[in-house]
Amino acid sequence: MLIEDRRVAQFHYTLTNDQGEVLDSSAGHEPLTYLHGKGNIVPGLEKAMAGKQAGDKLKVSVSPEEGYGLQIPELIQVVPREAFKGVDDIKVGMRFQAETEQGPVMVRVTDVSAETVTVDGNHELAGQTLHFEIEVTSVRDASVEEVLHGHVHGEGGHHH
Ligand code: ZN
Repeated sequence: MLIEDRRVAQFHYTLTNDQGEVLDSSAGHEPLTYLHGKGNIVPGLEKAMAGKQAGDKLKVSVSPEEGYGLQIPELIQVVPREAFKGVDDIKVGMRFQAETEQGPVMVRVTDVSAETVTVDGNHELAGQTLHFEIEVTSVRDASVEEVLHGHVHGEGGHHH
């Protein structure tokens, strides 16, 4: 059975960056389960999965445009440390919810100096080319409900 719209696929993956560092992997965990054709995974990877079947292994490089998007410079801001009073020990990697004109946005602390804190509201993987090594482990037809909901139910999916 091939991966196409209205089918649910499971796959193992290892995600590395341009430097070859492993960013994420399903090794040692359950494979990832997704409903094909609903944008549940990044567009570049979803395209590459189409037409594959259980047992297929593939390597796919996904550009930022087809991954988590480009870095938006306006989402990176340097704010005075005073803005974080109440937080004793601000460290790189901490996450905060920031109020913006577009509503609440999750930001990450990317730099801390004596006077300032740099926060970044971009997705952590924005601007990066994503290198996936994939092994498809199963493909099945989606249920009508899954298609209607746009996501997988049961094992590896939503429970509701
Ligand atoms: Zn549902």
